[in-house]
Amino acid sequence: MKRLVVYALLLALLLSGCGPQLSPDEAQESIQVIAMDTAMLITTYGERSPAAAYACEDVIRDLESKLSRTDPDSEVSRLNNAGGEAVEVGEDLYILLHEAACLSAETAGAFDLTIAPVVSAWGFAGGEEYRVPSQEELDRLLELVDYNAVYNRYITPPDPPRAAIGPGQAIDLGGVAKGYAADKIVEVLREHEVPRANINLGGNVLAYGDRPDGAPWRVGIQDPARVGEQNAFAGVLELTDSFAVTSGGYQRYFEQDGKRYHHIIDPSTGYPADSGLTSVTVVAPAELEGCLNGTMCDAYSTALFIMGEEKALDFWRDRSAGAFELVLVTEDGRVVVTEGLADRFTLDESSGYTLEVASS
Ligand code: AMP
Ligand code: MG
Repeated sequence: MKRLVVYALLLALLLSGCGPQLSPDEAQESIQVIAMDTAMLITTYGERSPAAAYACEDVIRDLESKLSRTDPDSEVSRLNNAGGEAVEVGEDLYILLHEAACLSAETAGAFDLTIAPVVSAWGFAGGEEYRVPSQEELDRLLELVDYNAVYNRYITPPDPPRAAIGPGQAIDLGGVAKGYAADKIVEVLREHEVPRANINLGGNVLAYGDRPDGAPWRVGIQDPARVGEQNAFAGVLELTDSFAVTSGGYQRYFEQDGKRYHHIIDPSTGYPADSGLTSVTVVAPAELEGCLNGTMCDAYSTALFIMGEEKALDFWRDRSAGAFELVLVTEDGRVVVTEGLADRFTLDESSGYTLEVASS
């Protein structure tokens, strides 16, 4: 475990009567966590910032142990290996199965929690070699991809909660796990009375409260065309109390015979999505209690990346105004932001993209 204490306890200075007069808010803890296949950075503020930051880490590690597909002892692995029988599941997996099945239905199966066998065939589940499966193999595996089976077999509480999937089916929650972790982290921050925090779960940002200077948090949108460069952004979003979740083919891929294959699979073909988009960022409010907006943003970012620009914008228009907003980066050099973000997004001029605003 790598914990990096960057800056802490300016309060001590304050209490000893010397040094600048700082508000208790200025106490800050920053830790790096390597989990869920990514480097994460958790920065919390306020008097209880160290306890809050480590409680956030606990949430992430606990969820990873329950949801990992590579850990044979995880709850997800037990469900995937149950041969269609019902198994007991804990509260988190129970909630997440329900959410993920609903989000699969809502996105008409662009996001599909039962995509696991196809993701594994490409080697993206971890543990296997990357490879390009034959069309025959993909066709056979795609028959197992059907979120309705989970929906129908879902077994309601009371206790103990149980769930089942169809024989041969397997679930992959990699497209929503970090978003759900961000939702749980909001609860932790509230419990610890943290005034502000910046939580980066690798492409999955929670801008909680505002910055210590009262300005909004600045969240850079990675330029998918310049992944090797540091701080190469398509643009910057100014956000308070928001989730901003990005999906892009550049985040995980392999190359074979000069072709690039990435990890976001289009369930209608079994192949990596090829929709003309290079990244999708979904932004939604984080201050609404009891609302799993982090999970929603995560599923939507994956689904809308697969749908492509036109369908993604239709999806946004069909839903109530302001519930979420989008930043789409296209293969042909444009950044499209939905109108609710127009005054919160600044294009990085050095990126060479042109900016368009989509209206409802
Ligand atoms: P994200 O980075 O949130 O877009 O999630 C990508 C991850 O979600 C992949 O690494 C897979 O584990 C999983 N995944 C890939 N394609 C799909 C899909 N069509 N529906 C649901 N999950 C997917
Ligand atoms: Mg996602």
